[in-house]
Amino acid sequence: MSPRREILDGASSPIEAAERVVVALPEEGEAALEASLRPRSLGEFIGQRQLRDRLGIVLEAARRRGQPVDHLLFAGPPGLGKTTLAGIVASEMRASIRVTSGPALVRSGDVAALLTSLEPGEVLFIDEIHRLGRAVEEVLYPAMEDFQLDVVIGKGPTARSIRLDLPHFTLVGATTRTGLVTGPLRDRFGFVARLDHYEADELEEIVVRSARLLGVETAPAGAAEIARRSRGTPRLAIRLLRRVRDFVEVKGNGVIDYDSARAGLEHFGVDELGLDRLDRSILETLCIRFAGQPVGLSSLAVSVGEERETVEDVYEPFLVACGLVLRTPRGRIAAERAYEHLGVRPPAALQLDQAQSLFDEVDS
Ligand code: ADP
Repeated sequence: MSPRREILDGASSPIEAAERVVVALPEEGEAALEASLRPRSLGEFIGQRQLRDRLGIVLEAARRRGQPVDHLLFAGPPGLGKTTLAGIVASEMRASIRVTSGPALVRSGDVAALLTSLEPGEVLFIDEIHRLGRAVEEVLYPAMEDFQLDVVIGKGPTARSIRLDLPHFTLVGATTRTGLVTGPLRDRFGFVARLDHYEADELEEIVVRSARLLGVETAPAGAAEIARRSRGTPRLAIRLLRRVRDFVEVKGNGVIDYDSARAGLEHFGVDELGLDRLDRSILETLCIRFAGQPVGLSSLAVSVGEERETVEDVYEPFLVACGLVLRTPRGRIAAERAYEHLGVRPPAALQLDQAQSLFDEVDS
């Protein structure tokens, strides 16, 4: 066990990766199953109403003009449906799709080879597009803008650049970090959309749909309970559904109803708010170890034994979104709700501080 893990858990047992049911990154072996559950058309895609309406118009207009769709960028936390939307764009346009990711495109030659092999109208999906290297990005600029590729032939003083025509393709990018997508790249997308966390009723619909496809019997209250604890994230809703299915098959009668869903979720350490042990460990660090003082991201990450990026990208957004953690210029602090959730008393100073900040908001 690493020292960090020891710090993290004190006397209790370490938080093993396998226990982290509610991390919205895909788990190993989950890809094939996810692919089988992916909606294939915009009509089947649940939630994100505004995005769906706008995208529907963009696709329909391109279809009517008989042209490929503009380049599209989908941004938002993991597990909200960015890859799914890329697949939907391709199938709605009756085009094929090539899938790659920022970290996989290392050399500019790789991306040049990929671009020249595309079919007209084909969709090129680049996941984690914020992780593209600069040289690769520079190949993409003329490709996206003018469907041209600049190729340098030769070296030194005799080197010259020629332009090759590329087929008109659609680039669909996905990113969990909009802030890290460079300006010039972002400007070359005709449509940029942000996916938000889902409402509980939308997640419930996703659970019901997935349960039907997986052949699992669910009562509405069981599906609702899974949805409620899924942190607004379809990937987690589907994962929790599968875990609860395992639970009811072994410990129950195979049907997911309210009681068996609750028992299954408790069994896997997912609490009433959908928090797992690492989330609670973050809250404990803020509320108890640092006693309500602002904590920098790095200290927080060390304290819970996790990578800084994982805390920032995976855990924090939900804790902030549901009002448990506040980001302040001096660091992260726990909101009063976090103390309530852990069942500990907030320090008196914090109560005053947060009351004061409410007044400040009202005043401004
Ligand atoms: P991302 O690319 O944002 O990480 P994915 O597109 O891979 O997320 O979605 C994760 C899983 O959640 C997939 O199995 C997908 O089927 C499901 N999913 C995501 N969004 C929706 C939705 N709106 N309706 C139904 N299922 C969804």
